[in-house]
Amino acid sequence: MSGKPLVVVLIGPGGVGKGTIARRLIERDDALWLSRSWTTRPQRATEDGSEYVFVDRDTFMQAADEGHFLEWAEFHGQLYGTPLPTPPEGNDVLLEIEVQGAAQVRQSDPDAVVILLVPPSLEELEGRLVKRGDPSEHVDKRLHSTPDELRLGRALATREIVNDDVDRATNEILSILGTLRQPRRNPS
Ligand code: 5GP
Repeated sequence: MSGKPLVVVLIGPGGVGKGTIARRLIERDDALWLSRSWTTRPQRATEDGSEYVFVDRDTFMQAADEGHFLEWAEFHGQLYGTPLPTPPEGNDVLLEIEVQGAAQVRQSDPDAVVILLVPPSLEELEGRLVKRGDPSEHVDKRLHSTPDELRLGRALATREIVNDDVDRATNEILSILGTLRQPRRNPS
């Protein structure tokens, strides 16, 4: 494959399972490269440190001023940013980010594919947020912002996928990728 990499942006409310699905996608698809974001948020007890580049606000803002990020945004008081992507030759790029960042990516690359992952229900989402160890006030804040995130996400997304089962949702995204790559492999 040659030419500009396809940029696939996975969005959806916190706790919907974007991280799990992103990891599953890169395990299953050898030509997909997952970007590692920067954040000012503290590392969670359930994280091993590989999830993000964890930095302080000054370091983040300096990198932003120096043009280090493809996009960055503030989400619940913390900064998150995608470094300019450096995928291996022939790889497509997978971003797992929130909706304001996805809007910036779409603006700079109108061909970016935005996939909105939605929970089977709000109850299920709450259960997942509690399980991953977020303090209860964070769970409340995140649940409160879910309807807005879904509304903005729906306005932006190319496709919407219900994460009722990780394998099923992963297969659905892989099949979308397969369809999108087809005309790029066989240009007419
Ligand atoms: P969390 O704190 O739960 O890891 O992430 C909070 C939100 O920030 C999630 O929706 C996550 O997808 C998003 N996020 C992670 N990395 C980035 C990034 O680089 N840019 C933006 N805009 N959002 C990000």
